[in-house]
Amino acid sequence: MTNSIWGKDHSIAQAYWRTGYADFPIYDLHGHVGAHYAIYMKRCEPDTMACHLRRAGVKHLVFSHHEALFGNMRNEQVYQLCRSQPDLLRMYVAINPHYPERIREDLAKFDAWAPFAVGFKFLADYHNERVDSKAYEPVLKFANERKLPILNHTWGGSCCSNSTILLAVAQKYPGAKFFMGHSFFGDWDGAVKVVRETPGNVWLELTAIPGESGIIERLVQGVGSTRLLFGTDLPWFDEFQAIGGVLSAKIDEEDMRNIFYRNAEQIFGENW
Ligand SMILES: [Zn+2]
Repeated sequence: MTNSIWGKDHSIAQAYWRTGYADFPIYDLHGHVGAHYAIYMKRCEPDTMACHLRRAGVKHLVFSHHEALFGNMRNEQVYQLCRSQPDLLRMYVAINPHYPERIREDLAKFDAWAPFAVGFKFLADYHNERVDSKAYEPVLKFANERKLPILNHTWGGSCCSNSTILLAVAQKYPGAKFFMGHSFFGDWDGAVKVVRETPGNVWLELTAIPGESGIIERLVQGVGSTRLLFGTDLPWFDEFQAIGGVLSAKIDEEDMRNIFYRNAEQIFGENW
């Protein structure tokens, strides 16, 4: 037991192990709400998710709703849902590139959804539309002008949101903040290249990575911990698994703090 990460005195891991909390808030910048037809999710509605998030010490979950991404739910309804957990939930406005009229309406309402709407979610591979296509342009321009984040689903070798496409898009819209969900999973060199060749507007988001040995260390080395963001894809993955994955990575505690909260506060402020 003495070699365990939680056996190290005065460490973040030990505090978390003993109390369930660290001495800082955790921001989960990649979540979802709602059931999904293909998988049983025990906690996928705001009330049950809220209990779980609070137990894990998460201050805000930023999510997109499954039904807004894949179905007919409108972002206006998602905004109403956020109001049931106003301290905890923040939303990415879900963008379906096949509904330009909805995109126009949602951009017009964006300001009215403050403080809950904090950015946008692109799921280009699932919608089978490249991020550099015309369909995304109105949102990219809007985010660029207002310096807003866009959480992109990215994956190594994907058809519509791989590192080559996103590098060009992030260079074209330097004002927008690009959160690269899953950090171009598997294309780790590409992920590093995108951060290095863009003007400070790209962050790599860690969903699915804490289960992979050595990758957090590799990304910290490649781009620095100030470019990494914590996220889980809750309810697809679990807070505790992801937090444990970061705490057990071989990086120093300053890096962990950057990942769990400092980078998010740099982007959104301390009270958002
Ligand atoms: Zn996701």
